[in-house]
Amino acid sequence: MQLFEMTWPQVQDLSPLMPVVIPIAALEQHGPHMPVFTDSLLLGEISRRLEEQLSEQVLFAPLMWLGNSEHHLDFPGTLTAAPRTYLDLLKDVVRNFLTHGFRYVILLNGHGGNMVPSQQALFELRQEKRDRDDIRMYSATYWESGDAPSDPSFRQTKMAHAGEWETSMILHLHPHLVGEISELEPMTQKIPCAPAQLAWITKDRSPLGYIGDPAAATAEKGAKLLDHFTGNVAAMLRLIIDDANAV
Ligand SMILES: [Zn+2]
Repeated sequence: MQLFEMTWPQVQDLSPLMPVVIPIAALEQHGPHMPVFTDSLLLGEISRRLEEQLSEQVLFAPLMWLGNSEHHLDFPGTLTAAPRTYLDLLKDVVRNFLTHGFRYVILLNGHGGNMVPSQQALFELRQEKRDRDDIRMYSATYWESGDAPSDPSFRQTKMAHAGEWETSMILHLHPHLVGEISELEPMTQKIPCAPAQLAWITKDRSPLGYIGDPAAATAEKGAKLLDHFTGNVAAMLRLIIDDANAV
């Protein structure tokens, strides 16, 4: 079910146990070869497929396209909320659904920079609502919601910004939006002193704004990746639906 299509009496009639999914993405540079709306296009497509599969069981909020992308601001076109503004924005939207009586809320994320704020937002809300024992709030990132896709044709073994995987998925969905990729060198710069966590901005790691190996992308790989990730998220959402229905 899609919130944007509904009237308020229809929303009022929904079960408070119906899980609410809030897709959260971004508008930020994705290398010299892909559009700035890449994360929103990909999560939008995954959300569309999930809504088709689970339309009677889950309420989908419209995708939030403004994310936490300050680390990409050196590249023109990137739009971002300030990190603390973003944290508060997420808390406000989740709080709205709790106000309307919903008890299960999921922040479904499609952008690396949103991972920490989405977890922190729900952590803080849980402390604020510590007297409630009937609510459950989850955050999940679509490419980390199950096993990693493994295929002998993939050069990357994990997600990398605007690399093989994201470029493949956009090639599958919107080939006319992908520029020349054959000349792009792999960008596998190691983070110094790992496992220590380096605080970085994107240009520290990549002068052109991508990481990974976009030249290895194909539309066929993109079709496999989208199927795999959608399947993982659908399985995770079914766990939450079952948990809510067991109440
Ligand atoms: Zn991305």
